[in-house]
Amino acid sequence: MRVLVVEDEAKVADAVRRGLEAEGFAVDVAPDGPEGVWLAGEHRYDVIVLDIMLPGMSGFRVCEELRRAENWTPILMLTAKHGEYDLAEALDSGADDYLTKPFSFVVLLARIRALLRRSGRAAPITHSAGDLRVDPATHRCHRGDVEITLTAREFEVLEFLMRRVGEVVSKVEVLDNVWDFAFDGDPNIVEVYIRHLRKKLDEPFGRHAIETVRGAGYRLDPGGG
Ligand code: CA
Repeated sequence: MRVLVVEDEAKVADAVRRGLEAEGFAVDVAPDGPEGVWLAGEHRYDVIVLDIMLPGMSGFRVCEELRRAENWTPILMLTAKHGEYDLAEALDSGADDYLTKPFSFVVLLARIRALLRRSGRAAPITHSAGDLRVDPATHRCHRGDVEITLTAREFEVLEFLMRRVGEVVSKVEVLDNVWDFAFDGDPNIVEVYIRHLRKKLDEPFGRHAIETVRGAGYRLDPGGG
C-alpha cells in the first residue's frame, strides 16, 4: 500500500510518515500543493492524505485538480479545528473523508483503513490475542463471547497494544500513537488508561493480558493472559 502525504508542517508530515511506515505502508511526502499534484500524477497511490492549508495551492485546489484529471485515489483531507473553511467544502471538492487537526495517529490509521476498505483495496482487519478480540472498524471489543464496553481512548490504547502484541511498548510510544502529535502532557496518563483496561479486560476474568515490564513499558500477552 502506498500513501501520499501532502503536508507542509514538517513535524506532522514526519510523524505521519514514520507511523505509516511502521504499519508497512510506503509513504511519499509532498511539502506543497503543486508537488502533491505532480507526485499523484507520477505514481499510483492507494490513499492521499491532504492538508488544506498548503503553500502554492490549497488542498481544495489539489483535490479538484486530481479529480479533473480523473484521478480517483481516495483522499483524506486534514482540516484545522477552527479553520476558516467549511468542512463541507472539503467533501464538495472531491475528498472522500476529512479529519480535524489535531488528530491522533490511531484515528488517522483507522480512517485510512476505512478508505482502503471502501475502495476495495484492503480486507477488514481484526486483532486478537487468545480470546481477546478488537475490531477497529466497529470499535468493538470481546473477551470470548463477552462484549467489553470501552471508551474511545481506552479502545485506542488497547488497539495499539494489540497491533504490537507480544512486543514491549513504552509509555512514550503509546502516547505518540494514541494522543495527538501536539500532546506534551505527562506520559503517566498512559498508566491511568492501562489501569482502566485491566479492570475491564483482565480482573473480571481472572486474567493478566497486559503485563508491566519494569522500566520498559507494557506487553500484551499473545495468549490473551
Ligand atoms: Ca498546512
